[in-house]
Amino acid sequence: LFVVFEGGEGAGKSTQLAALAERLRGQGREVVVTREPGATEVGARIRTLLLDATAEGPSPRAEALLYAADRAHHVATVVRPALVRGAVVISDRYVDSSLAYQGAGRTLPVDEVSWLSSWATGGLKPDLVVLLDVDPHTGLSRVAARNEGPDRLEAESVAFHERVRYAFLDLAANDPKRYLVLDASRPVEETAALVARRVEEFLVD
Ligand code: C5P
Repeated sequence: LFVVFEGGEGAGKSTQLAALAERLRGQGREVVVTREPGATEVGARIRTLLLDATAEGPSPRAEALLYAADRAHHVATVVRPALVRGAVVISDRYVDSSLAYQGAGRTLPVDEVSWLSSWATGGLKPDLVVLLDVDPHTGLSRVAARNEGPDRLEAESVAFHERVRYAFLDLAANDPKRYLVLDASRPVEETAALVARRVEEFLVD
């Protein structure tokens, strides 16, 4: 089972991901928690190129290729092997982040970014995408409050984050069976319970 968490900055993905992993491990399942970009050694180097706030960032097309390279290696060396073993893989971001950030955010053609991602992944799609929806003002102030990467985030306008948000919501609206969209301003426990219920529907054996 391949579950992906998506959402804008400060949506609470890490908290929810950890809660789900703990719950499934408590049931004796093998769970692989991973993320993009940067889950592998190659990926960590790519992540530095992408997210170093002190350096000039790559151009939009170069950025899209670097995310695709990170993803190709991630899928080949982490995600597919774990799925083949029968593990539950939970990833913090995947293809939709590229469609939203590199496509809608940086205004690259979304169909081209989509093609690039499916080439990179060999077409591997998640079984479920949990979209934690947050309005950018709330999300960005949460991130600012925990003092994480504000330099980099300040470089993007609220309009950029709005485009990202609506791109995620559009993807979910076009494929409702594959998505669980939750308002990220709900209490953490409530969100965790809804996520668990949906994931467990896949695991009844
Ligand atoms: O999920 P996390 O906060 O670690 O992601 C780091 C940053 O990378 C995000 O804030 C987002 O701006 C950026 N990102 C991106 N395109 C992706 C994935 C992440 O711009 N495909």
